[in-house]
Amino acid sequence: SIVERISSHTGGTPFSVEFYPPRNEKEEQRLWRAVRTFEQLHPAFVSLTYGAGGSTRDRTVRIAGQLAEETTLLPVAHLTAVGHSVDELRGLVGSYADRGIVNLLALRGDPPGDPLGQWVKHPEGVEYAEELVRMIRELGDFHVGVASFPEGHYRAQDLDHDTRYLVAKLKAGAEYSITQMFFDVEDYLRLRDRVVAADPIEGEKPIIPGILPITSLRQVRKIVELSGSQIPGWLDERLARAAGNGPEEDRAEVRKVGIELATEMCERLVAEGAPCLHFCTLNFARASQEVLTNLGMAPVPA
Ligand code: FAD
Repeated sequence: SIVERISSHTGGTPFSVEFYPPRNEKEEQRLWRAVRTFEQLHPAFVSLTYGAGGSTRDRTVRIAGQLAEETTLLPVAHLTAVGHSVDELRGLVGSYADRGIVNLLALRGDPPGDPLGQWVKHPEGVEYAEELVRMIRELGDFHVGVASFPEGHYRAQDLDHDTRYLVAKLKAGAEYSITQMFFDVEDYLRLRDRVVAADPIEGEKPIIPGILPITSLRQVRKIVELSGSQIPGWLDERLARAAGNGPEEDRAEVRKVGIELATEMCERLVAEGAPCLHFCTLNFARASQEVLTNLGMAPVPA
């Protein structure tokens, strides 16, 4: 399981990476290049996202299967409840199990089209990720993780409710959580404190910080907007300065700031005892690899 993997890791803090299912042949080649690079760096696990409402269902299942069968990596397959009946969700879990995948990340997902729009449950589906955790656990010997939100989920009334719902997912049988990407380490530390205060037993479960090494201002603004969170003002200013005033942003300069920032965040997270560093790679190895190199966790890229 993921928790065994990260807790038995020796020699410093482990790391993990997130991929998304490629949408075409070119992206697929890029994914496999990143996979081969990361194989050399020995991540504790790799996770593979699932497209809204099952739009990537077949590809996610196929790629997760290939990761399990054709690489040395340990895959975690995401699955989302949105747009699926309980029967379909059971079938999906079965497809993963057929390919030897027992590590799943249980998510509710967002409404397709407009992720920040009104959430409508599938008439025969589930309302919250908590129910998905229960359903998966009832189906067999799966190891389940869930999402957590350092700044609180954008639909939660307040941070106390948000914490309560996270604890409920852990109590339902999730063994760990992976956070939404964030840019202020204090937010992560406060989340950890809230969970421990709300439930000391569930508070023992790993909260794995999600890190995005920023390589483009335009891209990070879009990603963050779609996730319903925010880039802190100081960071947006720092990135905007790096991007310059030209018609195109200065990608090299933004990337430099992005790698620096991710490195600083990771140093602090390691010092604060984070159980693992989870990199959102967008299927590119290079930026995460540079951060790992800065941290002394990977050799200098060739
Ligand atoms: P839930 O835990 O169900 O929470 C949803 C909302 O309901 C929250 O506001 C919560 O506070 C509230 N809530 C929870 N329980 C209750 C309750 N009992 N009563 C009242 N309110 C409640 N999306 C994808 O489409 N594909 C992916 O692969 C994917 N991977 C992700 C990976 C990570 C690490 C993270 C952090 C997010 C990922 N997402 C993905 C996005 C995720 O689907 C959205 O953030 C979604 O809006 C919330 O999902 P959840 O599982 O946290 O939902």
